Amino acid sequence: MVIDGHNDLALTIWEGKPPLHVDLDAAGAAGFAGGFFALNVPSHVPLAFDAVPYDLPLPAEIPFEEAARVADELYATLVGLPVRIVLDVEDFREGSVGAIVHLEGAEAIAPDLANLEAWYERGLRSLGPVWSRPNAFGEGVPFRFPASPDTGPGLTPAGVELVRACNDLGILVDLSHLNEAGFWDTARASAAPLVATHSNAHALSPSTRNLTDRQLGAIRDTNGVVGVNFAVTFLREDGLNLPDETPIAEIVRHVDYLVDLLGIDHVALGSDFDGASIPTELGGIAGLPLLVEALAARYDSDAVAKLTHGNWLRVLAETWR
Ligand code: ZN
Repeated sequence: MVIDGHNDLALTIWEGKPPLHVDLDAAGAAGFAGGFFALNVPSHVPLAFDAVPYDLPLPAEIPFEEAARVADELYATLVGLPVRIVLDVEDFREGSVGAIVHLEGAEAIAPDLANLEAWYERGLRSLGPVWSRPNAFGEGVPFRFPASPDTGPGLTPAGVELVRACNDLGILVDLSHLNEAGFWDTARASAAPLVATHSNAHALSPSTRNLTDRQLGAIRDTNGVVGVNFAVTFLREDGLNLPDETPIAEIVRHVDYLVDLLGIDHVALGSDFDGASIPTELGGIAGLPLLVEALAARYDSDAVAKLTHGNWLRVLAETWR
């Protein structure tokens, strides 16, 4: 069984595009039991990763009214899919797809948090204060390679309040897309395990979207989890967008590094399906058994179970109320 830290299926469908990676019809045979389904209000400028080094500017802020309207439409898209909205870890079952409602960037949350509880009531159980752009809660990390994630200011006072309110409600706070200052501000404010749903090791692929060993150590020390991202630009040492030339072994390389550094209890999967270029060899949900097989060649069955779903279930049970 695979539980996954990130996909952008709802946005892909909302934009009228055919999904490339999340084939829900293949889920049963591939053992895909769901995971975090992102609601990401899109910026108006497309990202271009086609050359390295890259240094993309932060996209403009999205006004609250626009973000709230689009997020409502993304939510309606998600609940219209053949998935079950997951409110509790027991809602994940083999043979069906469970969806954690995840706001990737909190633009749709009012800066005074007036509508946060309403979002919780409709099923919100995970939230990233920022995507890679500024908003009322923080600045977000721009996409740069090679570069440090220490790119600018962290959380605003409203961002600190948001983290505390999420702790109180039992909403997971996602560190992926925060810059380093925002990461440490969140670490100081949060009483929950630290989680990065879809980020890799900066030591292996020096993208701003990846985490330094020190950040990873803080995740371990709070009993948190990092979900390994399948995006080839965040996997490869050279950062190049070469899906045909990036084997599944590149994902395993990050898993191995993270397990060595953090231990087996703090590493999971965070595919970024339908949000990034992934290894052609994997292809999408239908290829997950190939990744599980590659992990099983190196880890015993208890360890594979932790990597593929057990660590997500543990950290969610600890974070949700
Ligand atoms: Zn993302």
